[in-house]
Amino acid sequence: MTPSLPRRPRWRSLALLALCLAPLLWPLQHLAERYYRSELVSQNRQTLDLFVANLLGTLHRYETLPQILGDLPALRSTLQSPTDPQVVDHANRLLKDICDQTGAEVMYLLDPSGNTLAASNWQAKDSFVGRNFAFRPYYSDAIAGRVGRFFGMGTTSGKRGYFFAAAVHEGARVVGALVVKVDLDHTETLWGKTPEQLVLTDQHGVVILTSRPEWRFRATRPLTDEEHQAIASIQPYPTQAPQPLSLDDQAWLMQTHPIAETGWNASILAPRALIDRPVRTVVAIGGATLLVVMLLLGLMMQRRRNYLDRIAFEAKARRELEMRVIERTSDLEALNSRLKQEVLEREQAQQELVRVQDEVVQAGKLSVLGTMSASISHELNQPLAAIRSYAENAEVLLDHQRTEDARGNLKLIGELTGRMASIIAHLRAFARRDRHALESVALQPALDDALALLAKRRRAMAVELFRDLPDAPLWVQAGETRLRQVLSNLLANALDALTEKANPRCLWISAEQTADGVALLIRDNGPGFTRESLARAREPFFTTKTRTQGLGLGLAICDTLMRALGGELVLANHPQGGAQLTLRLRSAPPGVNLQPPEDPSA
Ligand code: ADP
Repeated sequence: MTPSLPRRPRWRSLALLALCLAPLLWPLQHLAERYYRSELVSQNRQTLDLFVANLLGTLHRYETLPQILGDLPALRSTLQSPTDPQVVDHANRLLKDICDQTGAEVMYLLDPSGNTLAASNWQAKDSFVGRNFAFRPYYSDAIAGRVGRFFGMGTTSGKRGYFFAAAVHEGARVVGALVVKVDLDHTETLWGKTPEQLVLTDQHGVVILTSRPEWRFRATRPLTDEEHQAIASIQPYPTQAPQPLSLDDQAWLMQTHPIAETGWNASILAPRALIDRPVRTVVAIGGATLLVVMLLLGLMMQRRRNYLDRIAFEAKARRELEMRVIERTSDLEALNSRLKQEVLEREQAQQELVRVQDEVVQAGKLSVLGTMSASISHELNQPLAAIRSYAENAEVLLDHQRTEDARGNLKLIGELTGRMASIIAHLRAFARRDRHALESVALQPALDDALALLAKRRRAMAVELFRDLPDAPLWVQAGETRLRQVLSNLLANALDALTEKANPRCLWISAEQTADGVALLIRDNGPGFTRESLARAREPFFTTKTRTQGLGLGLAICDTLMRALGGELVLANHPQGGAQLTLRLRSAPPGVNLQPPEDPSA
C-alpha cells in the first residue's frame, strides 16, 4: 500500500476564516484612529494654547500703554499747543523713542476730532501726522472714555495691526486720544511651516491671521448685512466684501480656542492625513499579523493533518500486518498438520520399506546362496572326499597294525571336519534373517569392540595402530552385531595381509562425517589387492589365501551386509601401497548410547 499523499492545506477554508476575521481590523482601525486623534488633539491643544497665550501676551504688553502715555506732559502740551512746531516736534521724537523701546509699530496722538497731532512715524513717507482717524471705532471708544480696541489693516501701511486707544483727560474733559498700533504681521511669520495650520478669525468669522496666505481675509461663515455695512465703514480688511472660505471637514481636523477679550477665535487645523497615515500603517501591520497568524494556523493544521494521516496509515499498516500474521499462522497450521500427516505416512512407508528391505535382503541372500550352492557343494565335497579317502586309508592302516599312521589320518579327518564346520557356520551367519530393524549405532564403540577381539593377534604381530576418529560419537544407521561382524572381518583381513609383510606393520583407521553420511577408512601397509583380487574379492569363496586360512566368504558377506544397512563397501589400494577399504554408512539420529548387542548365536 502506498502512503496517501500529503494533502494541500485547506487554503480555501483559511481564506474564509481570514475573511471572517478581517472585520476585526475595523475595530483595530477605530482604536488606532481614536488613539492617534487624541494624541494629535492634545498636541494641537498645546500648540493652540501656546499660540493664544503668546498672542494675548503680546497684546497685553501694549494694552495699558495708551493710558500711561496720555499722562506724559510733553504730549499733553502738544494737545494744548498743537500749532507750536517745537512742542509737536518734541512730542513726535518722544513717541518715536517710546515706540522703539516698546517694540510697538506706531504710536500717535489724536485731537478730540480725530486728527493726528503727533506720531512716531512723523518722518516716514506715509506718516500719520495730519490724518484723521475718526472713522476708526477705537477713536470713538477712546473719546467715550473706554479703552479702544480694534483690529485692522493699516490704510496707508497695508500692515495688519491691533490698535489700543485711550482718552487723554484734562480733569474730567477729554482733550485727545493716544493710539498704539501693535504689529500682527510679525506674529504670523513666527508660526513656521508645520502641516498644522493656524487660523485666527475675528468677531465676523473673517480670517485675520493665518499660516495659509490664501485663506487671509476670507469669511469662514456667511456675513450678515450689518456686518457687511460695519466692515465697509470701519475698513478692517483690504477688501470690503470678504470672499467665503469653505474648509473641507473631511480633510481637516479643527480645534478652536475662543479668545473672549477680543471676540476672536483661534483655531488649529490638522490635516486628517496626519491621523490616516499611522492608522493605515497600524491596519497594515494588523492585516499582516492576521495573515501571518493565518499562515501559521494553516501550517499547523497541515502538520496536524499529516500527523493524523500518518497515525491512520500506521494503524492501517499494523492492522494489515496483523491480518497477514493471522493468515500466515493459519497457513502454517494447515501446513503443519499436513506435514504431520506426511511424517506419519513417511514413518509408515519407512516401516514398510524396512520390512520390504528385509525381505529383499533375505531374498538376495537366498539367491546368493542359490548361486553359492554349487561352490558350497564343491567346497564341502573336497574335504568330504578327502575324509573318505583318509578313512579308507586308516582302515587299511589299522589292518596292518599301523596305528600311529591311522591316528594321523584320523587327526587329519578331524581337521577337515573342523573346516567344514567353519564353512557352515559362516553360511549360517550369512543366511540368518535379522529380527532387528535398523537402529542408531555409535561407530566408535563398535570399532573398539572389533579391535579388542583382535588385540592379542595385533600385538603379537607388532602392528602399529593409527586412529583418527572424532571424540563425539558418530551415529550410523546399522545393526550393532552386523556392524561389528563387518568391522571384525575387515580388520582380520588387514592383519592377514600384514602377515605377508615384514615390519613396520601399520594399520590406519579414520572416520569422517560426509555430506551423505559417515565414511570409515581402514588402511594397511600390506601388499594391497592384486588386480584380480580387487575385481573379484566380493565373490563368495574367492580367496588368495591358502585353503586352510581363507574361506573367501568374508568380503562377500560384508558387502551383502553393508548393502542391507543402506551403505556401501569400497575396495581400493592406497597410492602409497597397501589396501584401503571404505565403509560408507548412513548417518542416524543420536540414539541410546550403547544398544545391548544382538545375540550372535541367533
Ligand atoms: P578370505 O579372507 O577367506 O580370503 P575374503 O573374502 O575375506 O576371503 O577375502 C577375499 C580376498 O581378498 C582375499 O583372499 C585377499 O586376496 C583379498 N583381500 C582381502 N583383504 C585384503 C587386504 N587387506 N589386503 C590385500 N588383499 C586382501
